[in-house]
Amino acid sequence: MPRGRFAPSPTGSLHVGNLRTALVAWVSARSAGGDFVVRIEDLDRANSSFENEKSQTSDLRAIGLEFPVDVVRQSERFEIYDAAIDRLSARGLTYPCFCTRREIREAASAPHGDLPEGAYPGTCRDLSSAELRRRLDSGRPPAVRLRTDGERYRFTDRIAGDVEGGIDDVVLRRNDGVPAYNLAVVIDDAWQRVDQVVRGDDLLLSTPRQIHLQKLLGLPEPSYAHVPLVVGGDGERLAKRHGAVTLADLAQVGEKAADVRAELLASLGLPTDVDDAVSGFAWAKVPRSSWTIPLRWQTRTS
Ligand code: GLU
Repeated sequence: MPRGRFAPSPTGSLHVGNLRTALVAWVSARSAGGDFVVRIEDLDRANSSFENEKSQTSDLRAIGLEFPVDVVRQSERFEIYDAAIDRLSARGLTYPCFCTRREIREAASAPHGDLPEGAYPGTCRDLSSAELRRRLDSGRPPAVRLRTDGERYRFTDRIAGDVEGGIDDVVLRRNDGVPAYNLAVVIDDAWQRVDQVVRGDDLLLSTPRQIHLQKLLGLPEPSYAHVPLVVGGDGERLAKRHGAVTLADLAQVGEKAADVRAELLASLGLPTDVDDAVSGFAWAKVPRSSWTIPLRWQTRTS
């Protein structure tokens, strides 16, 4: 059975851009006769909270999305990600990286073609054994990176069309022991039998990295749809300053969840009735460019 998903990080409230992506993911899965799951991407415990998780799942239900109550939480699955890293390490496909964020930023400032921003330049890839020992002895714990070899991947995105991109030596485990998003996401989508990934287009250029990890781990490749951003009145990525951007803000200006859903469906080129949206769904209808929130939402709330 086809299965879609929405995978928020519980680091704050969902804004209407997140809700719009979740809505199209749900409508698309439903229109294919499939179901839908929510996965909580709370790898980063310091910035995640259960209150945020609750508010996010309740907002998703408020706009009419249906999904199982038992959501998967990545924070409960560290040993699964660690086991995958061990398997890659046993094949010689990883190496320790001692770089600080700042060193990476400075080294990565040169253009890297179509690699994602901040792509790793490979500083620690071929450390001599003496250098490796010196770094290990210094006490700074290393991150674990994937050893890649200039691979490139092409995939057909249901919105962006044909996309081709390179990959870098992506982090698999941060130096504080936390498994990395790119690894966890491919393991969990496969384990949850998600076969259609619908998410914000800020992740478009991370997709080749994820396809590479799927190949290495023998996991199936889902279909991808990267939904263009939602922007405020000034054309910038949606933020609090743009006005009523969460369901709670919108309730304050008199907009009910059902009205918000109708507005979001219309912005996706779909009928405003949710059943009609499901029966009439087609990716071809979904706009290829960013969507600006309506003027009446561009009101500041307290
Ligand atoms: N957890 C990611 C985020 O909130 C989304 C990951 C994904 O959909 O693949 O940005």
